[in-house]
Order: sequence, then C-alpha cells, then structure tokens
Amino acid sequence: MLTDMHVAVIGGDARQLEVIRKLTELDAKLTLIGFDQLDHGFTGASKAQITEVDFSNIDAIILPVPGTSLEGKIETIFSNETVVLTEEILANTPEHCTIYSGISNAYLDKIINSTDRKLVKLFERDDVAIYNSIPTVEGTIMMVIQHTDITIHGSRVAVLGLGRVGMSVARSFHALGAKVKVGARKTEHVARISEMGLEPFYLSDLEKEVQDIDVCINTVPDLIVTARVISKMPAHTLIIDLASKPGGTDFRYAEKRGVKALLAPGLPGIVAPKTAGQIVANVLANLLSEDLIDRKEI
Ligand code: NAP
Repeated sequence: MLTDMHVAVIGGDARQLEVIRKLTELDAKLTLIGFDQLDHGFTGASKAQITEVDFSNIDAIILPVPGTSLEGKIETIFSNETVVLTEEILANTPEHCTIYSGISNAYLDKIINSTDRKLVKLFERDDVAIYNSIPTVEGTIMMVIQHTDITIHGSRVAVLGLGRVGMSVARSFHALGAKVKVGARKTEHVARISEMGLEPFYLSDLEKEVQDIDVCINTVPDLIVTARVISKMPAHTLIIDLASKPGGTDFRYAEKRGVKALLAPGLPGIVAPKTAGQIVANVLANLLSEDLIDRKEI
C-alpha cells in the first residue's frame, strides 16, 4: 500500500488514467496537475494548478511518457493549462522526492542534475520495454495487414535487431506462419535466432538478405535501411520502421523508389492505451512501494 505517500501526477494522456487508478487503489494521496477537464473523479485525488501546489510535501512526481519538451512544457491532454516543470519546482521538493518519466531529454536531465534529484526513466527498464513489446507487436501486425495485399502466413519477413522489440516481433510473425529471417550484429544474437527456429543473418549482409522479402521490420535505432539496401528490395516490399524517431530508414530514398516505408512510433499508446497505461502503472506501483519501504527503513 502507498498510504501516506503524496504523489503529484503531472499531465499525460489516457495512459496516465491507469496510473491514477492504480495509485488510488493503493491509497496514495494524489495531486493531479493538468487534469482540470477530466470528468472522472478519483477518490483521494485532488486537481490543482501547478502554481497552487506546495511541492515541499510531494514524495514523488510522475511525468507523462515523453517527460517534458526541451522548454520544460508538459503535454496535458486533459487541460488547456500551460504546465511547465521548472528547476524551482524541483528545488522545492524534499530531497527524497523521485521523478518518474518515460524518457528524458537535455532539459529534464539539466534540472534533475542541478537540483540533485533522482530521475527514473521507465522506458529504459527491461521490464517496461518487454511488456510494451506486446502492444507494439500487435500494432505492427495491424499495419502489415493494412498495407499489404498478401497474408502474413507464408510471407517473407526480415526483422532487423534482436532486442526487446525485435525478439517479440520475430517470434509473433513466425507464429503467424511467416518465413522470418532476423538480422543482428552479435554472434550470441545469431545463435539465439537459430535457437528460435528462425533464419539468422549478419546485418553487414543486409543488402544481400533483402532481395527476396515482402516485409522489412526495423527495430534498430540507427540508419541501417539505407538507400543501397532499399535499392536491392523488391519494389513491393513494405518497410515498417519501429525504431524511435527518426527511425533507421532512408525514407527520402524509399519514396523516390516507390517502396512504401512507414515510421510507426508510439504503437502501444495508439493500439492499446489502456494496456500501455497498466504496464506503466504496475511497474510504478512496485517502484513507489520499494521507495516507501526504503524511506521507512532509514
Ligand atoms: P533494444 O532492446 O535496445 O534493441 C535494439 C536492437 O538494435 C539491439 O538488438 C541492438 O543490437 C540493435 N542495434 C542498436 N544499434 C545498432 C547498430 N548501430 N547496428 C546494428 N544493430 C544495432 O531496444 P528495443 O526495446 O527493442 O527498442 C527498439 C527500438 O524500438 C527503440 O528505438 C525503441 O525506442 C523503439 N520502440 C518503438 C515502439 C513503437 O511503438 N514503434 C515501441 C517500443 C520501442 P546490439 O545488442 O548489438 O546493440
């Protein structure tokens, strides 16, 4: 239980409602900033404007998945209020106050460092990334169905990267009957791809390996689907690039060659916002509980 813990939830989209629901269940005291247009009332939660909050009583701050903008602004889907997280706000929090965000940027890193607070980047955690790979795969399957005129079953699919997303994508397309090959650069990944019953190849051979594929799914956050690689693909190949912006594909060249290439960021929040919110909520609930236990022990 999170009784006696005072948490400020600042901004966010539908995913944050699952976080609020979970923390409410666990009896945390919640201050919701950037939720004035939200009709739903949560017991134990009060809405406030950021200027009204006494941050010296706040034990944890929860930011939305993107954190802040490079100017400190926080996305607020449920409010027209402009919400900015400043260095002064963090400096006002107690020393033990932890800030939770999906990702960070130069602005957030700077104010965290200058105030000596702890930042937890939830999306860098393996557990969150692995759970999130599930809705990501479902969104990828949806996109492949929407943008091809062949079944996934029997199609030739190249998955690039055997990280947390690549592994789930490769396994799921294989289970749907696709002929899946997976490109990696580490020998242990090549071994794992073989063990999974899939066809491995080294990414250094990518140009050669794409000559007979129907779908290319990239998860490598680096430019590897280059113009040279795209020039070797059959013209009907569909490229789905899952890697974080700007992706790993030369989109300009793909368009020039008439190869359909789609950058598909943020699929969990698009195809399954409730599940995506529950993934974050469950991990956050554990982290906050551990935090509370640690503080009680000190
Ligand atoms: P990950 O576990 O770090 O996997 C990344 C993979 O890319 C690893 O296999 C890594 O191989 C490989 N890689 C990285 N740089 C490389 C390079 N220069 N050359 C060759 N291989 C390279 O990351 P993840 O969690 O799977 O996520 C992959 C990407 O998808 C990230 O950009 C993430 O932000 C994004 N993502 C997108 C969505 C969406 O909805 N579109 C959802 C979740 C995640 P090594 O081990 O050899 O480095």
